[in-house]
Amino acid sequence: MSLLSVVLPAFNEEAMLPKTVEVLGDILSQAGIDHELIFVDDGSRDHTWQIICDAAKAEPRVHGIHFSRNFGKEAAIFAGLAEASGDCVAVMDCDLQHPAEVLVQMYRLWEQGFEVVEGIKRSRGKESLFHRLSAGTFYKLMTRATGFDMSRASDFKLLDRKAVDAVLELPERNSFFRAQSSWIGFRTTEIEFDVREREAGTSKWSTFGLIKYAVSNIVGYSTLPMQFVTGAGLIFLVIAIALGIQTLVHYLTGNAVEGFTTVILLLLIIGSILMISLGIIGYYISRIFQEVQGRPKYIISKKV
Ligand code: UDP
Ligand code: MG
Repeated sequence: MSLLSVVLPAFNEEAMLPKTVEVLGDILSQAGIDHELIFVDDGSRDHTWQIICDAAKAEPRVHGIHFSRNFGKEAAIFAGLAEASGDCVAVMDCDLQHPAEVLVQMYRLWEQGFEVVEGIKRSRGKESLFHRLSAGTFYKLMTRATGFDMSRASDFKLLDRKAVDAVLELPERNSFFRAQSSWIGFRTTEIEFDVREREAGTSKWSTFGLIKYAVSNIVGYSTLPMQFVTGAGLIFLVIAIALGIQTLVHYLTGNAVEGFTTVILLLLIIGSILMISLGIIGYYISRIFQEVQGRPKYIISKKV
């Protein structure tokens, strides 16, 4: 019989964990699916690790990985994928916002021969207006950058062993699971689900965290921002030629003084475009630097 591994990243989730273990265990056992639950404690500062240890003691199907500090959800997903021994591996949030019934449906699709089953958000659940707007902008940019439709994508997915191995082999340090699972290809299908409301605890994302995440992923998947530098350069070349001719004409006709406004404006505009361009290039250089450093994505301190 084939084994399903479920990877659940957890960061300060003491309020949700006991329920998650129970609900997932019940639903998967009822459906007759042989499974293991792999909780990856992303350096939580509450009792999350204690709860995982207790659950592992009571239930041999529960495994736990504890990071030495908070490395982020992407790292946690990867640690879980690396640890999973199943014939197929599902990734889901451990706050039960990804409904467990859908997990069973995903497994059935896998049994039918699909190698990547992507969870697609039908509705986004309850979110603040600001969050909705910023998430909307982020996904529009990501869709442009990656060439895959990311607007309703989620981290709720089920991958066949082959696909898991392919994802694990991708060498980049700054990983983005959502995009990688489409990038690798394979026989893919989608399943829609409604995002549930979080029952306990709070969302672990700050607005600043989301912006950082967005910039990092766009840089990771697109060089489009760098073309902005070239584009701006070309536009200014055209303006420079026009103004250059005008200046020469003024000089030759003998009325050269005049036009300080133009000088000031040009200085300001060119100055800011230059700074922005340097910043964009700096982002890519810092990314190259990080990749070259080759530090591990995460450090495990304990396992159960
Ligand atoms: N998470 C994590 N590390 C982090 C932030 C979040 O492992 O640094 C986990 C978190 O425990 C949860 C999942 O990622 O299982 C999704 O986080 P959350 O529910 O806070 O995000 P939201 O549902 O609000 O997008
Ligand atoms: Mg959540």
